[in-house]
Amino acid sequence: MKIDDKLALNLFHIDKKPHIEINQEICRKCPHKACTYVCPVENYTLNEGEVVFAWEGCLECGTCRIVCDQGSLTWDYPTGGFGIVYRLG
Ligand code: SF4
Repeated sequence: MKIDDKLALNLFHIDKKPHIEINQEICRKCPHKACTYVCPVENYTLNEGEVVFAWEGCLECGTCRIVCDQGSLTWDYPTGGFGIVYRLG
Protein backbone atom coordinates (compact mmCIF):
# COMPACT_ATOMS: atom_id res chain seq x y z
CA MET A 1 0.00 0.00 0.00
CA LYS A 2 1.38 3.43 -0.93
CA ILE A 3 1.89 6.09 1.73
CA ASP A 4 -0.74 8.33 0.13
CA ASP A 5 -3.26 5.49 0.35
CA LYS A 6 -2.42 4.97 4.03
CA LEU A 7 -2.72 8.69 4.78
CA ALA A 8 -6.09 8.77 3.07
CA LEU A 9 -7.41 6.32 5.68
CA ASN A 10 -6.70 8.70 8.56
CA LEU A 11 -9.51 10.69 10.04
CA PHE A 12 -9.24 14.41 10.83
CA HIS A 13 -11.38 16.33 13.28
CA ILE A 14 -10.51 19.82 12.17
CA ASP A 15 -10.62 22.69 14.63
CA LYS A 16 -11.28 26.09 13.06
CA LYS A 17 -8.61 27.50 15.35
CA PRO A 18 -5.16 26.50 14.00
CA HIS A 19 -2.94 24.63 16.44
CA ILE A 20 0.13 25.92 14.58
CA GLU A 21 0.66 29.55 13.67
CA ILE A 22 3.49 31.15 11.78
CA ASN A 23 4.85 34.67 11.93
CA GLN A 24 5.05 35.86 8.32
CA GLU A 25 7.48 38.66 9.12
CA ILE A 26 9.98 36.14 10.51
CA CYS A 27 9.37 33.70 7.63
CA ARG A 28 10.09 36.41 5.06
CA LYS A 29 13.58 36.86 6.52
CA CYS A 30 14.25 33.12 6.94
CA PRO A 31 17.31 32.11 4.90
CA HIS A 32 16.33 28.46 4.31
CA LYS A 33 12.55 28.03 4.78
CA ALA A 34 13.22 24.46 5.91
CA CYS A 35 9.57 23.87 6.79
CA THR A 36 8.75 23.81 3.08
CA TYR A 37 11.06 20.79 2.64
CA VAL A 38 10.36 18.66 5.70
CA CYS A 39 6.62 18.51 6.29
CA PRO A 40 5.49 15.02 5.24
CA VAL A 41 2.12 16.29 4.05
CA GLU A 42 3.46 19.50 2.48
CA ASN A 43 1.50 21.82 4.74
CA TYR A 44 4.10 24.52 4.09
CA THR A 45 4.45 25.75 0.54
CA LEU A 46 6.02 28.74 -1.15
CA ASN A 47 3.95 31.21 -3.13
CA GLU A 48 6.13 33.83 -4.81
CA GLY A 49 8.66 33.50 -1.97
CA GLU A 50 6.05 33.73 0.78
CA VAL A 51 5.48 30.76 3.12
CA VAL A 52 1.87 29.61 2.97
CA PHE A 53 0.64 27.30 5.72
CA ALA A 54 -2.38 25.03 6.08
CA TRP A 55 -2.93 23.02 9.25
CA GLU A 56 -5.89 20.86 8.28
CA GLY A 57 -3.91 17.79 7.19
CA CYS A 58 -1.33 18.00 9.98
CA LEU A 59 0.00 14.65 11.24
CA GLU A 60 1.15 16.24 14.53
CA CYS A 61 4.65 14.86 13.97
CA GLY A 62 6.36 18.03 15.24
CA THR A 63 9.02 18.10 12.53
CA CYS A 64 8.31 21.71 11.59
CA ARG A 65 8.62 22.70 15.23
CA ILE A 66 12.10 21.20 15.37
CA VAL A 67 13.47 22.58 12.08
CA CYS A 68 12.21 26.12 12.53
CA ASP A 69 15.26 27.78 14.10
CA GLN A 70 13.95 31.30 13.45
CA GLY A 71 11.30 31.40 16.18
CA SER A 72 8.44 31.75 13.72
CA LEU A 73 6.24 28.89 14.89
CA THR A 74 3.73 28.75 17.70
CA TRP A 75 3.03 25.03 17.92
CA ASP A 76 0.69 23.13 20.17
CA TYR A 77 -1.36 19.96 19.90
CA PRO A 78 -4.94 20.49 18.79
CA THR A 79 -7.55 21.06 21.44
CA GLY A 80 -8.92 17.81 22.90
CA GLY A 81 -11.23 16.04 20.48
CA PHE A 82 -9.61 17.64 17.42
CA GLY A 83 -6.73 16.59 15.20
CA ILE A 84 -5.73 13.38 13.49
CA VAL A 85 -7.00 9.90 14.25
CA TYR A 86 -4.52 7.34 12.90
CA ARG A 87 -6.24 4.32 11.48
CA LEU A 88 -3.27 2.19 10.40
CA GLY A 89 -0.86 2.62 13.31
FE1 SF4 B 1 3.69 19.04 8.85
FE2 SF4 B 1 4.39 17.56 10.98
FE3 SF4 B 1 4.44 20.25 11.13
FE4 SF4 B 1 2.09 18.94 11.00
S1 SF4 B 1 3.61 18.85 12.68
S2 SF4 B 1 2.65 20.78 9.84
S3 SF4 B 1 2.63 17.23 9.63
S4 SF4 B 1 5.76 18.94 9.83
